[in-house]
Amino acid sequence: MLRIGIVGLGLIGGSLGLDLRAKGHYVVGVSRRAETYERAIAKGAVDWGSTEPAVLSALDLVFLCPPIGSILSVALEIVPHLSRDTVLTDVGSVKESIVPALEKLWPRYVGGHPMAGTAAAGIEAAQSQLFANAPYVLTPTLHTDGEAIDCVAQVINDLGAKLLYATPADHDRAVAWISHLPVMVSAALLLANTQEANEPIRTLSQRLASSGFRDTSRVGGGNPKLGRMMAEYNRAALRHCIIHYRATLDHLLQQIEQEDWAGLEANLAVAQAYRQQIYP
Ligand code: NAP
Repeated sequence: MLRIGIVGLGLIGGSLGLDLRAKGHYVVGVSRRAETYERAIAKGAVDWGSTEPAVLSALDLVFLCPPIGSILSVALEIVPHLSRDTVLTDVGSVKESIVPALEKLWPRYVGGHPMAGTAAAGIEAAQSQLFANAPYVLTPTLHTDGEAIDCVAQVINDLGAKLLYATPADHDRAVAWISHLPVMVSAALLLANTQEANEPIRTLSQRLASSGFRDTSRVGGGNPKLGRMMAEYNRAALRHCIIHYRATLDHLLQQIEQEDWAGLEANLAVAQAYRQQIYP
């Protein structure tokens, strides 16, 4: 049983708390607003909560779970209260803009990113088993303390997540492809649909939208603040992916314009095979 702190009790922080408590760990939560930790206690996501970072002293492990743009400022606020041996980790969706700064700040820090989420935000959205069978990436560097890695790895295994390792730079390039680009593509799909000038057609398309549109629009209909932060903090990698995606879309458009049906089908067959490779 570990004594674990969670700072930022939203979807990810609250969901971590639910599962960590279920595994028998003692969980202390810190939020900016008292209502948030009170709801977290009521939901069973933390054993105890406070708005004061001083409650994080004498813990084994602390998860930083605020929005990406606040991770560094929140870390600066809490580290004076941590015990020397406390391991610190964060759940931010980007790593290159976070890891170098945090590892300078705290010697027992290891970056992390659970590849799990929903379209909702806040403590009410927290749910148990969110991380089970989902990938969870740790991004240690040459400077990362080995015991800190082992400690976080053990807790990730406890959550039933699939543990992976990557450098912060490789992580950011990979998540740009499979997480950040899909948010922009899916949002573009929704935005383009809103721009259909023929109102009856737009209304009919909404009424006809079924499981296919539900799947393809899901990530674009998520938390706008999170999407903005993905773009802001992973700008170069996301730009690279969008440029390649746009060129691919242009190529498909060209095949349609030229009525190159065989070429289009061949490309769609490559897409189908690649998806089957990822999700056998
Ligand atoms: P969320 O549901 O909006 O929760 C964030 C929580 O942080 C809020 O409940 C808020 O509670 C607190 N907070 C907000 N601003 C803060 C600030 N300036 N300082 C301190 N605390 C603040 O967001 P989330 O989806 O859990 O995301 C949290 C982190 O997880 C982000 O870094 C994100 O990159 C990462 N992540 C998200 C997903 C996803 O799909 N959602 C997946 C993987 C990783 P109070 O206002 O009460 O303090």
